Amino acid sequence: MNFNPFKSKDISPLVVFSLLLMLSIAWVFWAQIELGVKIIFLGLFFILGFIYNAWNKASQKSFEFVRKVKLLNQKIFEVKAGTKKKSNYSRWGKFTTEFLDGLIGVDALLFFVENKNKFKPIYGYNLSRSAYQGISLESNLKLFSRLKSLVYSTHKTIFEIESVGEDHIPKELKELSDQAGFNLLFQIGDGPEIFAFALIKTEDKKLSEFEFNLILWAGKKIAKEFEIEKLKEELQSKKRRMKSYLSLVKWKEATSEKELKKKVFDLFSLFQETEKLYNSLDEERLFFILIDTLQKHFDTTKILVFLPEEKTPNLYPKYSKNIELENLSPDSLLKKSDLYFWVQNKAEPFFISEVEKKLKENKLLEFLRSNQLLLGSKLNLPDGRFGMVVLGKKDKNEDYQEIDLSSFSILLSMTSLSLKNIKQFKTIEELSYTDSMTSLYNYRYFYQRLNEEIFRAKRFERKLALVIFDIDQFKIYNDSFGHQAGDGLLKQLGSHLLKVVRSIDVVCRYGGEEFCVIMPETDSKECIRFMERLRKSIEDYEFKDEYLDHNHHITVSLGAAIYPQDAKNADKLIWCADMALLEAKNEGRNRSIIYEREEAAVKNTI
Ligand code: GH3
Ligand code: MG
Ligand code: MG
Repeated sequence: MNFNPFKSKDISPLVVFSLLLMLSIAWVFWAQIELGVKIIFLGLFFILGFIYNAWNKASQKSFEFVRKVKLLNQKIFEVKAGTKKKSNYSRWGKFTTEFLDGLIGVDALLFFVENKNKFKPIYGYNLSRSAYQGISLESNLKLFSRLKSLVYSTHKTIFEIESVGEDHIPKELKELSDQAGFNLLFQIGDGPEIFAFALIKTEDKKLSEFEFNLILWAGKKIAKEFEIEKLKEELQSKKRRMKSYLSLVKWKEATSEKELKKKVFDLFSLFQETEKLYNSLDEERLFFILIDTLQKHFDTTKILVFLPEEKTPNLYPKYSKNIELENLSPDSLLKKSDLYFWVQNKAEPFFISEVEKKLKENKLLEFLRSNQLLLGSKLNLPDGRFGMVVLGKKDKNEDYQEIDLSSFSILLSMTSLSLKNIKQFKTIEELSYTDSMTSLYNYRYFYQRLNEEIFRAKRFERKLALVIFDIDQFKIYNDSFGHQAGDGLLKQLGSHLLKVVRSIDVVCRYGGEEFCVIMPETDSKECIRFMERLRKSIEDYEFKDEYLDHNHHITVSLGAAIYPQDAKNADKLIWCADMALLEAKNEGRNRSIIYEREEAAVKNTI
């Protein structure tokens, strides 16, 4: 590799420090001071150097991870944008080589891609083509089921070839591996499906958790690109089928030129809509967009989305439009009901009337019928479970056509893909320390830092305040002005917070519209003063909205607790501050309350 951006190219602060250390040593030798003092100075410089080194190593690690992830994202984007050639998968082989080489050093690599149930090598690095030409592996080989189970059991996507087990590796791959000296296998897949894999020859080195995490993430990210590419191909073939369908319509109904134009227009708007779905990074918003899209696209008012409950596969109605859900019992669609299995086994959209003919009458079917809900489809979820989306009758009482079924299926495939995207995005957010929306620290960092600050406060026998606050009636704000406006507000609030706090305070986004501030060396009096100052500053702040002319005002409720008087560890301190926040909400919002006694807080929650 000539130039590899994944290789660390920053001048390490350690190098700078070593230079300074050498200069200091030179100074000690040149200076006209006694030998004893010289030795003390030298000793001091070495100890300082040692402490700096240890500190630097620890702090660099997390920043390096975030830096590499950002770089990965950018490179993947470039790889996608840089080629117009359809299905040119070898570019991913090149990318994988570059990425892994920068991270662990690659001596040779062979990249296999699945196509029509066969894995074939399509890109080799430092290998002669004759070494791998002609190799083809059936995708139902036990090697691949073994790889999938390894991902599940180890949560890793890169393995020593040895750990795959000799009897799982086909003979031709084994021979090739021995010849080329491959020692690692990196798989590109999302769990249930493997899209590609690479055999790698690298120096025999142990990978760190950092490297495993980064490789895991990269594997999933590339897998998603493969999946998108496959979906695009599927979309193209559906488009071709639709085109021939349209020409048939044209031939049959020469009069309905207008109709034909509308259908072509629908097709293009469908492409645009899938784009919107795919770019969504928040689950609630994704469903909001989905419902809006379905409503517009199919001219229907009623839509119902069933999703599984928290930890069970039972489906319950989670999002709906223009449907009274009170009449629907909460256990309407349980696991193991006839209807449940029907949905599970149906890959394509289906008519509810079709279900009614085949299955026994039940309360849910009765409910769907009474609401004139006509068309249903399974929605695949990233964790292997599924949901169901049901559409009501069209506004002009037209029938659903075959073309509608295809569009419905495409929109739901895109939704599934987007849900996967959101899940991966969350994982990477969890692995990093900053919240991408507000650029504040995230919960992961907050929790770690709170523990550190408590440790410091204990050591120096100082107090520490924890403030948690939540925007009042934010749901109403979102409902009135839209989620996008809500996001814009959260961003502005994030930058405002950084201006209000002291430099030693740590501001984090605790969750959705909840924030917190860790305030070292702060007692209850100072904390109350701060909370009131913050509360008023937010109340007075004019939040701008790029789509609306007028500015908005919001209020927040705040709760706080103090270490060590209220709690001696992080969990209890968070609990106490949360209780105080709850009390502030219960007492009417737009106020700050500091935690006082456990009894008082408990009383307020009843
Ligand atoms: P309360 O005064 O009791 O806090 O009322 P609330 O409406 O703010 O209720 P709650 O705190 O339970 O609701 C949180 C709402 O915040 C629901 C959700 O739609 C919204 N929300 C959470 N995260 C985000 C986000 O990232 N962006 C936007 N726009 N809204 C969010
Ligand atoms: Mg909240
Ligand atoms: Mg709120």
